[in-house]
Amino acid sequence: MNYRHAYHAGNFADVVKHVVLSRLVEYLKQKDKAFRVIDTHAGIGRYDLSSTEAQKTGEWQGGIGRLIDAPLDAKAAALLAPYLDVVRSLNPEGGPNPKVKKYPGSPLIARQLMRKQDRLSAVELHRDDAAKLKVLFAGDFQTRVIELDGWLALGAHLPPKENRGLVLIDPPFEEQGEFGRLVDGLQKAHKRWPGGIYALWYPVKDRKAVIAFRKALKQSGIPKLLDIDFEIKPPSAEPSLDGSGMVVVNPPFTLEDELRIVLPALHRLLVVEKPADWRMEWLAGE
Ligand code: SAM
Repeated sequence: MNYRHAYHAGNFADVVKHVVLSRLVEYLKQKDKAFRVIDTHAGIGRYDLSSTEAQKTGEWQGGIGRLIDAPLDAKAAALLAPYLDVVRSLNPEGGPNPKVKKYPGSPLIARQLMRKQDRLSAVELHRDDAAKLKVLFAGDFQTRVIELDGWLALGAHLPPKENRGLVLIDPPFEEQGEFGRLVDGLQKAHKRWPGGIYALWYPVKDRKAVIAFRKALKQSGIPKLLDIDFEIKPPSAEPSLDGSGMVVVNPPFTLEDELRIVLPALHRLLVVEKPADWRMEWLAGE
């Protein structure tokens, strides 16, 4: 439990993950019926980009720092607006470049986009982080912060009583075997709630592990798996975060077309070194 997301908040991988999250929540809002978002590895919900941790890596400058003021074509701008509006709402003072001093984590993004009938379960195992999250959502009856192992939440908290919604699984990948836990966790969760939308985040760092992960998902028998691969650098000689990926299970029918507009726009802004590209592929269809 050494991983601290404060070092990485707002980096390119957060941007891509949070944009996908925002599109999923926006889709769920198209029907009046209530939904639930379950965030199994929630973090602290809000990050100060002037903190020692964020300043030490400066990673956010290559992510939200590049996006916040960038010119975008109209279609990409419209699709990114819900996400960027949440970021801007945390930074009302505006000011000189960069305009972003606070960055929202996944539970805060989901919560800000939800309506009054929707609910959020934010699960975090690290005691200090869970405590911060409880302070952030204190008095918010739509949000439940749970100090718990996120992998256990995939059993105990599924299916949610709304029987509609999204599970974000965003583990820290600080320990060996995280890809395996992700596949096992998804299989367990999907058995309990086959109709839920699941969004799984993974690093593109150890490419052999990524290939094995995709193969395991293909062999899992779980249908409707859309894989998003967003690489900002060519494969490095030493292990480094060359890119990030997301697998979305039961994606809304709108998601693929939306991401074909948004991902190239993000890639143009966030790429560090070419050749590097983004890609989307169905690991399993219907
Ligand atoms: N989802 C967050 C976001 O996008 O803003 C970032 C989450 S960060 C990548 C991973 C988080 O998982 C860390 O806050 C870490 O403390 C927490 N964590 C580590 N192991 C966990 C576990 N077994 N269950 C729940 N949370 C865990």
